[in-house]
Amino acid sequence: MKYISTRGGMRPQEFGHILLEGLAPDGGLAVPEHYPQVSGQTLEKWRALSYADLALEILSLYITDVPRHDLARLCQAAYNPSLYSGVQMVPVKPLRDGFSLLGLSQGPTLAFKDMAMQFLGQVFEYQLERTDRTLNILGATSGDTGSAAEYALRGKKRINVFMLSPDGRMSKFQRAQMYTLQDQNIHNLAVRGVFDDCQDIVKHLSGDLAFKQRMRLGAVNSINWARIAAQVVYYFWGWLRVSTEPLQPVSFAVPTGNFGNILAGHIARQMGLPIHRLILATNENNVLDEFFRTGTYQPRRAHQTFATSSPSMDISKASNFERFVFDLVDRDAAQVSQLWRQLDTKGYFDLSALRAQYTERYGFRSGSSTHDDRLRTIKRVYEENDMFIDPHTADGVFVAEQFVESNVPMVVLETALPVKFGETILAATGQEVPIPRHLQQLVDLPQRVQVIDAEPQVVRDYIEAHALL
Ligand SMILES: *Cc1c(COP(=O)(O)O)cnc(C)c1O
Repeated sequence: MKYISTRGGMRPQEFGHILLEGLAPDGGLAVPEHYPQVSGQTLEKWRALSYADLALEILSLYITDVPRHDLARLCQAAYNPSLYSGVQMVPVKPLRDGFSLLGLSQGPTLAFKDMAMQFLGQVFEYQLERTDRTLNILGATSGDTGSAAEYALRGKKRINVFMLSPDGRMSKFQRAQMYTLQDQNIHNLAVRGVFDDCQDIVKHLSGDLAFKQRMRLGAVNSINWARIAAQVVYYFWGWLRVSTEPLQPVSFAVPTGNFGNILAGHIARQMGLPIHRLILATNENNVLDEFFRTGTYQPRRAHQTFATSSPSMDISKASNFERFVFDLVDRDAAQVSQLWRQLDTKGYFDLSALRAQYTERYGFRSGSSTHDDRLRTIKRVYEENDMFIDPHTADGVFVAEQFVESNVPMVVLETALPVKFGETILAATGQEVPIPRHLQQLVDLPQRVQVIDAEPQVVRDYIEAHALL
């Protein structure tokens, strides 16, 4: 399998080459040259596989430059059931007949990002070892992504992590999750400022190409292809658990921000997985919902992004959307380049002429929810199912309800556990969410964090002093 750029300016490359890169050299995103096909017969054979073995089957279609026995070892390590709480690693939780949640949040940081990040940690370490390189990850987080990255990369050889977070602005639980890590390769820098200050510092330092190269800086952001590939696995897993006959159509509803989560569903569907509808759910930051309803994509600016009660989806510029648009325009890289040039100059593009393509050929539906919708959904599920769901999952449930069809099972991806967002659950239900037993001590453990001023120079000096070269 080789990878090309959505903008056409990269000669075909192996997985190992694109793994550690961010954008392609032409500013586009790496995509596989084709989508491998999985037949109905193969799907039936996969029903009995463990999650790790299923991951191996699917990832080996995309990662052809790692020997199979090595890839098997990486999958076993990333998807070792001991890392995931609960009786099952990735359970299906029925809310009623034909309507279930797919539990993707049993991993170490209680959010679905672990499902991809755990694999990324393994394959990064493997690739660095193989090419005798080191990598210093520089990132900014408002909570979920940073902790998932740290838990995936803690203790890994040849990798250091420098994670900027806004001092005092994450929940007590999120702070405890990140700052209690004692691994020497994890550096938590709490910045006196807000998330945007953290982000600006990262952009500033990564934009200094000489510094970036000298310090071997890298990122683990959501455009990383290995994360997308690893997410494809759980759509297959969900279908295999929910379907009761070969090639049975199943719909998936997906809480989405950067279009990463649902892009993996699109790829699974293109590989032949019988997905009926892919239902995109956004919160008040509904730029993607707007696209699927009207055909116009008009990202908002950072200061126009609403701070909502499903904060991990507070994104107005969906970095992975370009990969979908590449397929939508029949992989015409020149047209993708032209559309993204137009985004820069006019701030929007209009693909309403392709409506039949994305609704019928690719099966997309969409919707968005408000704070009130979210709270009412959390309350209803609590009353009807005696179960707490997190606000992002609630966005998925709320939108999914509008697209239920008889005889088509609906699966909503559960993207975080409710305990991460206890205040919203309390507001919705009047109930405190119990902290899982294995995490009760977390908030009392010693924390390892440096509080610093919001100055790029301070972070630059810190990296100079601590980078792994
Ligand atoms: C990151 C995240 C999402 C959105 O995922 P994308 O890959 O940005 O589409 C949804 N819910 C939670 C809890 C998240 O952390």
